[in-house]
Amino acid sequence: MAAGKSSTVSIVKTESSPDQGAVNTAVREAIDMVGGLGSVVKAGDKVLIKPNLCAPPAHVSHGAVNEPPVCIAIADMVKELGAHPIIGESSGIGIDTDEAIEGAGFAALREKGYEVVNLKNYPDFKVPCPDGKVVKELMVYELAAQADVIIDVPKMKTHDNSEVTCAIKNMKGIINDTYKRKLHQEGLFEGLIDLMSKCPAHLVVVDGIVGMEGMGPVFGEAVEMNLILAGKDMVAVDAVVGKTMGFEPEEVLITMYAAERGLGEADLDKIEIVGQSIDSVARRFKRVSESQALDIEGFNLVHWEGTCTGCRNAVMSSIFDLKRTPKEMDCLKNRTIFTGDIDIPETDPNDLFAVGICVPVEKRGEKFVPGCPPNNATIRAALKGEEEKGLLISMDDKK
Ligand code: SF4
Repeated sequence: MAAGKSSTVSIVKTESSPDQGAVNTAVREAIDMVGGLGSVVKAGDKVLIKPNLCAPPAHVSHGAVNEPPVCIAIADMVKELGAHPIIGESSGIGIDTDEAIEGAGFAALREKGYEVVNLKNYPDFKVPCPDGKVVKELMVYELAAQADVIIDVPKMKTHDNSEVTCAIKNMKGIINDTYKRKLHQEGLFEGLIDLMSKCPAHLVVVDGIVGMEGMGPVFGEAVEMNLILAGKDMVAVDAVVGKTMGFEPEEVLITMYAAERGLGEADLDKIEIVGQSIDSVARRFKRVSESQALDIEGFNLVHWEGTCTGCRNAVMSSIFDLKRTPKEMDCLKNRTIFTGDIDIPETDPNDLFAVGICVPVEKRGEKFVPGCPPNNATIRAALKGEEEKGLLISMDDKK
């Protein structure tokens, strides 16, 4: 490590649409440049490889989720050291993880001898967090709590409430749904840092082969980057990835809060970059706010800052579905959808839709779509005025 540098992050550029061999080479090179896998894994270790399979992907190569090659490369390296790799994930609240594993192509790895698991099938394990800012304890899936080593394999994506999602945010998948919801309701950013303070990844290997810009983390557009980044300091990795995507560290609050709590280095001048320079590989990613997804006459979508991916994705996917049929899209005109505990937007109550049980009972009005998260079809039916199907429930049912 260079004098005065506290953290090292490697950047490796591989070829366009790399095959497994090219990915293996890039992953090995990236890990070797930050000390080698042997510096964190020893023979006999149980190693959790944690990809980002947040939801079943519309297209595997769309950038929302990992494709298998980077995890395969890491798992093979773990096996070479005589350790036991397990690829494990739990998707977002209310999302079927098995479907996400299948849709991203990971289920097929089982036939090739790789262990791929749904973390939600494991018992919860209580992790005390007495110094936490948001939670004093966390329920982590047992496999994650008991793994000797965690290798975090995030994507390089924009995110609709954290600007960028990478190493720190990807670890949300190791906590159970109750605590995922709790963090969203009580303070996602600091809550994730509470988690990181107790269950940090030992190594991060960023799958930046195909990233996502615009309406991330699920509904954005794919960006071919052909990058692998690696590092042991999660904060430094997130700062470098953000900068590579055109975000200053100050723009990404999770990164800054983690640095302020002394959990890593966000100052790019103090991070040693090895391999490619940031400038040589950087590409400005379109922000969520620049996405055209909601460019619909008179339509307004207002999210509470605590609204989690469950409601955000459910609302967005219902809008995307309606946009596919121009006739149905009319039902979005002049409508306002809101989620969570915000001041009720000023508009005609007939055009106002409250979505998700995080909206306090007294703010739900006459057009409330229940659920946690609500079903995409239920939101669409509500917008289309299909009360006769019983999809909008009465005030008495809104508890
Ligand atoms: S109601 Fe929506 S915002 Fe609230 S926890 Fe459930 S999915 Fe998240």
